[in-house]
Amino acid sequence: MASFFSHPALPVALKIASSRPVSKSLFILCIILTCFPDIDVVAFRFGIPYQSPWGHRGFTHSFLFAFVLGFLCQFFFRQLRESRQKVFLWTTAAVLSHSLMDALTNGGFGVAWLWPLSDERFFFPWRPVEVSPIGAAGFMSMRGVVVVLSEIIWLWIPSLLVAKGYSLLMKNKKPLT
Ligand SMILES: [Zn+2]
Repeated sequence: MASFFSHPALPVALKIASSRPVSKSLFILCIILTCFPDIDVVAFRFGIPYQSPWGHRGFTHSFLFAFVLGFLCQFFFRQLRESRQKVFLWTTAAVLSHSLMDALTNGGFGVAWLWPLSDERFFFPWRPVEVSPIGAAGFMSMRGVVVVLSEIIWLWIPSLLVAKGYSLLMKNKKPLT
């Protein structure tokens, strides 16, 4: 996995690039959702192997899971103080960004994007992100520094560029007054 510090890169970058991209409650929900797919690490406790579709980077890292979570979240659009469409798009993108980042890492198995149609695991052909150590102790070492640097270069900087592009696009869409 990419680290827990970097999975929220996309919503945080959008927040930095735009003064009010979404409501505070939707922003916080998106931060949580960017890490949510790794809830599947509990599978290890139940003896479910990594390669299983129910294991780590399995069904919770699929496109379907991201769309279903986004679909469920849009029912709470009033509480989140945003339009249904915006809640769906942001929450789906938040969940999806997790597996996209995992697919850029150079360790572990790939992600099961196509579950339940296929159990195949996928990576991007190019994987520049150093896989994150598990546990906080792993970051207090040279390896931790290498991981953080690779995430800044390959996750945070591209996220900030995407966010800047999004905010400029949204700015240009505003009606002239
Ligand atoms: Zn993951």
